[in-house]
Amino acid sequence: MTGSKDKLSKYKKKRAPAKSKEPGDKSVSFDWADERPIFVIQKHDASTLHYDFRLEIDGVLKSWAVPKGPSTNPSDKRLAMPTEDHPLSYADFEGTIPEQEYGGGTVMIWDRGSYSDLSDSQASIAKQLKDGHIKVFLAGQKICGGYALTRTGSGKDERWLLVKMDDDKADARRNPTSTETDSVASGRTMKQIEQEADDE
Ligand code: MN
Repeated sequence: MTGSKDKLSKYKKKRAPAKSKEPGDKSVSFDWADERPIFVIQKHDASTLHYDFRLEIDGVLKSWAVPKGPSTNPSDKRLAMPTEDHPLSYADFEGTIPEQEYGGGTVMIWDRGSYSDLSDSQASIAKQLKDGHIKVFLAGQKICGGYALTRTGSGKDERWLLVKMDDDKADARRNPTSTETDSVASGRTMKQIEQEADDE
C-alpha cells in the first residue's frame, strides 16, 4: 500500500517540529497493546477541552475530536468532528504543545488499548470507514466494549456520532470522563502534566 507519508501531509503542514514536542512519523511498537491495531483517546486542553479519539487504520491514526468524550451510556450520541490523520507514534504522546502553536495546550493519554472490528462485513475497516459506518470493540482500561461511529454529514458539514453499543459493557451510571480523570500512561493529572512541562 502507499505509505502513511501522503496521508500525513496535513498533519505536517500544521506543525513546526522545532517548536513542538509532538512526534513525527517514526516507527513505533507499543508494549501496552497486543497484536491487534490500537486506539488511543487523548484528553486535550486546547482552546476548548476535548477528547481526541484515534484508531489505527492503514498505518495512521484516523482521528476525531469528541467535545464531550466517549460515554458508556448507549443513549448518548457523542459528536465527533473529523481531524487530520496522525502518525502512529502520536499514540505515545503526552505533554504540552506551546500555546502559540497549532493545538496549543496540554495533552493526556486518557485511555488506550487494542481494538477489533465488530462488523460482519467482508470489507476492510478502511472501506467501511469510507462508507461512513464502523463498529469496533475497544479494549481499553477505562473504555471497553462495542462502539459505533457513524457519519452524519458530508463535505463541509461532515460530522460523526460516537455511540456506545448496547452490550454487557454498557453502563448508563458510569461516567468515566468525570470520575477517571488521570492518565493511563503516567497516572498524572492534567495539572501535573502541564507543570512538569513548565519545569523542563
Ligand atoms: Mn485535539
